[in-house]
Amino acid sequence: MTLRIGIVGATGRMGRALIAGVLVTSDAKLSSAVTRAGDDGIGQDAGRLVGMEDTGIIIHTDAAKLFALSDAVLDFTRPEVSVHYARLAAEYHVAHIIGTTGFSYDQLGILAQQAEKTVIIRSGNMSLGVNLLAALVEKVAAALGPEFDIEIVEMHHRYKVDAPSGTALLLGEAAASGREVHLENTAVRRREGRTGPREEGSIGFASLRGGSVVGDHTVMFAGPSERIELSHKAEDRSIFVRGAIKAAQWSAHQKPGLYTMCDVLGLTD
Ligand code: NAD
Repeated sequence: MTLRIGIVGATGRMGRALIAGVLVTSDAKLSSAVTRAGDDGIGQDAGRLVGMEDTGIIIHTDAAKLFALSDAVLDFTRPEVSVHYARLAAEYHVAHIIGTTGFSYDQLGILAQQAEKTVIIRSGNMSLGVNLLAALVEKVAAALGPEFDIEIVEMHHRYKVDAPSGTALLLGEAAASGREVHLENTAVRRREGRTGPREEGSIGFASLRGGSVVGDHTVMFAGPSERIELSHKAEDRSIFVRGAIKAAQWSAHQKPGLYTMCDVLGLTD
């Protein structure tokens, strides 16, 4: 069966990479491509937009039509937009693959509600490498005692709009899970001025922005007289594209529910 894949946020950095990825995937076809009202890309052929042959799929703004034409929708946009699309996914019983980052806890709650009606796969990072890293971080955090402080450092390109990155938070969740604590209660997302000494058990984040960096992440376990560092460096967006398309293919065989890339990649214990 040829999987019909729709792409929202089609003109964005990830949207373009996803179009190119779907167009070269043999058992999938691009069903529709949507962007926001007022975008310069409206009316353009999706293939031409990414420097490939014309496809006959013209970029438009009617998201309901896109969901009606698709088996799975790839969504790398903005949190409030993805929440709206999750409602459409539930209404049309279409799998929703969400790579968007920066959700509030309330917004995550809405996604969980919609996942009772359709398959939603959400991950702050769709790459195999980062999801493997998260599995390692969870194990290391479980093995080391509270004398090892956990700090997560990330760097991204100058256009990124949210911090800490979704991947840093995903790694923070993995560390918190290894320590059997909740990230919401332990995360320190910024430090400034007279902060006082580090609170034992906290998980710290630091965000750097600049240039064209696709995504660098390091999880540090800083103990007395020694430090363990686990790192991942994304070299281009194709790693996220491969993961998102794999998630769309995997979704075809699942029951409604909220899944992560660890489920898709078979990394859950
Ligand atoms: P971008 O700004 O280049 O693209 C965003 C897209 O969203 C654009 O096409 C824009 O038109 C669309 N959009 C914005 N507002 C909209 C609205 N109101 N209605 C409809 N469409 C709207 O951003 P990007 O670099 O492609 O990143 C997008 C998201 O994906 C970010 O949250 C980023 O952190 C995340 N991301 C996730 C992964 C992952 O593996 N999970 C990897 C890379 C990026």
